[in-house]
Amino acid sequence: MIKKVLVANRGEIAVRIIRSCREMGLKSVAVYSDADRSSMHVRYADEAWRLGPAPSTESYLNIDKIIQVAKESKADAIHPGYGFLSENTEFANRIREAGLIFIGPSAEAITAMGDKMTAREMMKKAGVPIVPGTDQLPESEDEIKALARKIGYPVMLKASAGGGGKGMRLVKTEKELLPSLLRARSEARNAFGNEAVYMEKYLLEPHHIEFQIMADNHGNVVHLFERECSVQRRHQKVIEETPSPFITEEIRAAMAEQAIAAAKSVNYSGAGTVEFLVDKDRNFYFLEMNTRLQVEHPITERVTGIDLVKAQIKVASGEVLAFKQEDIAQRGHAIEARIYAEDPANNFIPSPGLIRHITQPLGLGVRTDGYAYEGYEIPVYYDPLISKLIVWAPTRAEAIKRMKRALYEYKITGVKTNIPFVQRIMEAEAFVKGNYNTHFIDDNLEQLLQPETENTQYEDIAMIMAYLDFQNRQHKRMDFGQKAGNQSNWKNFGRLFRHNPY
Ligand code: ADP
Repeated sequence: MIKKVLVANRGEIAVRIIRSCREMGLKSVAVYSDADRSSMHVRYADEAWRLGPAPSTESYLNIDKIIQVAKESKADAIHPGYGFLSENTEFANRIREAGLIFIGPSAEAITAMGDKMTAREMMKKAGVPIVPGTDQLPESEDEIKALARKIGYPVMLKASAGGGGKGMRLVKTEKELLPSLLRARSEARNAFGNEAVYMEKYLLEPHHIEFQIMADNHGNVVHLFERECSVQRRHQKVIEETPSPFITEEIRAAMAEQAIAAAKSVNYSGAGTVEFLVDKDRNFYFLEMNTRLQVEHPITERVTGIDLVKAQIKVASGEVLAFKQEDIAQRGHAIEARIYAEDPANNFIPSPGLIRHITQPLGLGVRTDGYAYEGYEIPVYYDPLISKLIVWAPTRAEAIKRMKRALYEYKITGVKTNIPFVQRIMEAEAFVKGNYNTHFIDDNLEQLLQPETENTQYEDIAMIMAYLDFQNRQHKRMDFGQKAGNQSNWKNFGRLFRHNPY
């Protein structure tokens, strides 16, 4: 029985996991680095323990320290979230060796799926279609060239240990092949400590469509339908939606079947995602399996009504899945936008710093999974994700309108954000029509980077004017009205303002 969960992560995902723990009546333990002392997850958990200095190698990646904290705090399970140690075999093993529960799949499943070349081999054996390509590359340069010719240009060189959209190289002609291979190997060595690289056919106009899987330790494996994740920048997802506007009922059923076969082939347990690339003729190929909770899991929760974190915790405690395949349906349409502290106009450079003001969108069909608050300083050390904005509506068209409305309400000052950029995506013809692939952002970049409309600029000015007026009035009241006692007017003002943002 799990009674207390340590969340080995930070930011929005730590908060999101603790929320489910709270609803289940479980105690939560947050861990933090020095840069995260005042982070929301630290405030929100039942307990918070320091891991170490800001760099993740000394804090969120410090396996010894995390296990030590789990023991001292008497937690009986560890949830890894996503990123950091979530797909680290050693972490999963060490947790289990310490007599604790790792909320995730077996170390064997993580290992098999963590290496792209191994995963491809296993899928081939399981009869799951994979992107045409090679396993291990041959030694001789001539043989490598011959292989590329056989696959057909353009090809992609991929680091077997790669992830997070990194470690990929597009090769368009034979002339580029060997120099690219040299660079790919050295990049892979530096970034992932493993220089193994393989070759894949580069699919034209592909879609990235993935299936959410949930499995227990009693042989039950179900899927929770797909997520369309083709709005990407540099191979990283920006917007996700479900259902996919691209696939048909038949393709959906065929992909679901293969996703379940993929999970079964590694005796999968817990929440996982089987990613596919789908070409323009709707042929689909296994890309990789992520053996953890994904950033974009909330859209699946929204259309299926299933809390994936609770399901993960129950499976980890040995329970049988509470739902069967026939109980799971996709209701309505959900879209998620990743809201980053970044400057799209300046090559999307991260924009960490102090959040001076934040108004989160609310209202029917809106969910924000975030962790920022007014006065919070987004640290420079980690991913600059501020929140995930998730909307739901009965139809896709209504969901887009709702997302636009929510983005309109979303006000953040102090740091630059990609909110206007996401708003432009919601207005782009190809997106509105549901007629887009992974090249969408590159193909429409100029339009997506258009500055905000005059109206919104005026709106900002109006907000500043209202703020100044408010400030003026508050100040007068405190100066000439009741005595402020021994507290400074600035402090009083800060308190008042926090509750009255406008
Ligand atoms: P990572 O593990 O780094 O996320 P993936 O293998 O999942 O890498 O690929 C990330 C993205 O890169 C895909 O969603 C797709 O947009 C692009 N991509 C990967 N492989 C191919 C390919 N063979 N052809 C075309 N695009 C690809």
